Amino acid sequence: MSDPVLIIGAGVAGLTAAVELADSGVNTIVVEKLPTVGGNALDLYKAFPTDDCFYCFEGNRWRPGIRKCFYRSALIDQPNMDLKINSYVEQITGNSGKFEATIHVGPEYIDAKKCIMCGLCIEYSSAFSLVSPQCQPQAVTYDPDKADEGDKKAVEECPTKAINLDAQPKKETVSVSDVVIATGYHEMKPVNVDEYSYGKHPNIVTQLELAQILDPIGATDGKLLRPSDGKPAKRVMMVQCVGSRDENYYPYCSKICCVYALKHANILTEERDASQVSVVYMDIRTYDSHERYYREARENGVEFVRGRVARVEPKDENELDIIVYDSLLDKYLKFTVDLFVLSSALEPPEGMDNIIDSLGLNVASGFIAPADLVSENEVVAGDHIYACGTALGPAEVPESVTQARAVASKILQNRK
Ligand SMILES: Cc1cc2nc3c(=O)[nH]c(=O)nc-3n(C[C@H](O)[C@H](O)[C@H](O)COP(=O)(O)OP(=O)(O)OC[C@H]3O[C@@H](n4cnc5c(N)ncnc54)[C@H](O)[C@@H]3O)c2cc1C
Ligand code: SF4
Ligand code: SF4
Repeated sequence: MSDPVLIIGAGVAGLTAAVELADSGVNTIVVEKLPTVGGNALDLYKAFPTDDCFYCFEGNRWRPGIRKCFYRSALIDQPNMDLKINSYVEQITGNSGKFEATIHVGPEYIDAKKCIMCGLCIEYSSAFSLVSPQCQPQAVTYDPDKADEGDKKAVEECPTKAINLDAQPKKETVSVSDVVIATGYHEMKPVNVDEYSYGKHPNIVTQLELAQILDPIGATDGKLLRPSDGKPAKRVMMVQCVGSRDENYYPYCSKICCVYALKHANILTEERDASQVSVVYMDIRTYDSHERYYREARENGVEFVRGRVARVEPKDENELDIIVYDSLLDKYLKFTVDLFVLSSALEPPEGMDNIIDSLGLNVASGFIAPADLVSENEVVAGDHIYACGTALGPAEVPESVTQARAVASKILQNRK
């Protein structure tokens, strides 16, 4: 019997590759550093191009016609998937279809098979929390850095004895035939981009943070509120290309931020009663059919200002004055807003250097680069080594899913 396939990262890309392979009878080991699967897509509320909830979105594509939670079905229906959460790959040795991977697993403080998500432990100690009601695995998480005196009571009272605070991390060494890198992206926190004052006023947020505000299961129950005082945010300004297309940070275009900024602008005007939404841009890049978001935004009265933000001046604790140079009018304009949203660059995640070095992979701007784009598919990163989704660079979900399927198909072909 062949060795299993190692998949690093359990976002939509990694999970799609895992499910496609597991469905075809291939054993997979999926290593995820966080306590729950889903990656960045978990926090995004509605998804372009279908405007579905992110769970159903992927489920629809995976098994058309069935509105079934992808993550839940992936984990419950697939006996060939071995998911290791709170885990990371320490090193990989070997080559050409014979690899040894050392995996740092756990510690597993909560037994996800036993936890019934009753929430009792959360009442006793702030170290326990629920990432999301739909999290997979369906279990609470425990953060030892927040340990307090309520922990002991939580252990005693847990009705299913699911908590083990003495759990220790384990090291496992496994033989694997192929390595799939699906470690995704990170949204840059633009603390060093002075002109936007990120981190200096609570009402300056990134697009990912806005998505969490818009999420009905988020901290504000989906209400568009100012972080500073919890009052409705009526006037919103977005600025594009923060840290992208900028030689001081990332020279590349992050590709999808124009589309999701417009998706958010439409949600603000259509669903959340914002009275003024402005977008400051250099170019609007809505590729393929996503042009419809741009058209809808104009129909919804979103104001587009071509130019650059010159500076941000906090007016008081709750309002901001944004000074914008309008390059079409050739003059400076002042806008007073409740919320200032930065479309920040998508950057490679940290912590991949040892794997990239040990496998001798190519990189481009920090993301995994194809081994040979001329004669091979872009998902081939080396001999029996693949990458898919945003590990290859900024991409939307459908593209990530297509690449993950290409990876699965390559591995299956090699095994014939
Ligand atoms: C604000 C915003 C809105 C968006 N809206 C849309 C939209 O409407 N429609 C759309 O199609 N796309 C949208 N996207 C893009 C979407 O988020 C991505 O296409 C999708 O999440 C990519 O999935 P992925 O699996 O490649 O990466 P990720 O979601 O980043 O998942 C990677 C996983 O790998 C894990 N990981 C990372 N490093 C390691 C490691 N060393 N070891 C173990 N695990 C690791 C991470 O914890 C994570 O779970 C949006 C993005 C943003 C920022
Ligand atoms: S008390 Fe036990 S079963 Fe209930 S949520 Fe906490 S860990 Fe899960
Ligand atoms: S997609 Fe739009 S906002 Fe994002 S970097 Fe490219 S041009 Fe700028």
